[in-house]
Amino acid sequence: MEQLQSLHAALVTALPHALLRQNEPMARHTTFCTGGPAALWLQPDCAASLAQAMVLAREHAVQPVLLGAGSNVLAPDEGLDTLVIQTRGMSGASAEGNVLFADCGVSLRRLATLAQSHALTGLEFAHGIPGTLGGGLFMNAGAYGSELKDAVLSVTALLPDGTITTLNRAAMDFGYRHSALASLGAVALSTSLELQPDSADAIAARMAELQAKRSASQPLDFPSAGSTFKRPTGGYAAALIDQAGLKGLTVGGAQVSEKHAGFVINRGGASSADILALIAEIQRRVELSSGIRLEPEVRILPRYKGGIPWNF
Ligand SMILES: Cc1cc2nc3c(=O)[nH]c(=O)nc-3n(C[C@H](O)[C@H](O)[C@H](O)COP(=O)(O)OP(=O)(O)OC[C@H]3O[C@@H](n4cnc5c(N)ncnc54)[C@H](O)[C@@H]3O)c2cc1C
Repeated sequence: MEQLQSLHAALVTALPHALLRQNEPMARHTTFCTGGPAALWLQPDCAASLAQAMVLAREHAVQPVLLGAGSNVLAPDEGLDTLVIQTRGMSGASAEGNVLFADCGVSLRRLATLAQSHALTGLEFAHGIPGTLGGGLFMNAGAYGSELKDAVLSVTALLPDGTITTLNRAAMDFGYRHSALASLGAVALSTSLELQPDSADAIAARMAELQAKRSASQPLDFPSAGSTFKRPTGGYAAALIDQAGLKGLTVGGAQVSEKHAGFVINRGGASSADILALIAEIQRRVELSSGIRLEPEVRILPRYKGGIPWNF
């Protein structure tokens, strides 16, 4: 595609320090370890480079796909005929008093560890979530009764028209696995988070306790994207899948985990098509047995033919 070639040339000139590759397999950049090649793949090293890449993409009429750590996405086997921008290289983070400032590519694990080292509580739940801050904000990631929204003070975000704005907690419109980033089509660049002082040892103990709970209940030794489905009203997806007798159900290399029915895992050699087919079969059988239609929490990237908004 001509636009992609000229965008490639423009990115090489404008962002000499960013990682830029052509035909980069998405299986390397998603925790499901599936997905075909992205025509262009870019990992900027700072918020300014990310913003510049978005502007250049727009100038070349290319609609990029934005990813954090790829821990909540399913990328198509056929690949993505566009620019994929992955934020993981944006890694600035610091603490001032009880406020953390961080680029959106910082991993939630590193952020939680930084908070602990400054004797600040409030991010223990995030330590075991394998995503970035930006992906966590988009999803309002949560676990063990806490969500990212509880700590967010404000988010600096790039809007589709290229302007940069500050969204406070109310403007982020957080809900269950939802934030305003989706409706605004906005890219989170950096964030401030307000935490509370506590003993560093007590925080470390809580993180270790939650990690032990995760290891005991989740299939962490297989590639996955965490919980495949959102929690339906009045129930739990894992319980419904278990009650429908679907633990161990397999399509190709994809399987409903025997350890945690809420996880679809890649047992080895799964394609995204296997995972999609298994998701559809789980939805069908759970609806038959319970009358409830499960909605995927995993973000399913359509085969790219233009027109996907950048945070799809
Ligand atoms: C083993 C395992 C356990 C998990 N446990 C949990 C859990 O306990 N709780 C939980 O909530 N999730 C969990 N997850 C899912 C996942 O880690 C979270 O949803 C995480 O927040 C996704 O972050 P990411 O950086 O990987 O985002 P990605 O998967 O890369 O992207 C997800 C979405 O966010 C958008 N996005 C990414 N960065 C930005 C940005 N800077 N600005 C705007 N939009 C952006 C993308 O466009 C995409 O739509 C788990 C996953 C795994 C594999």
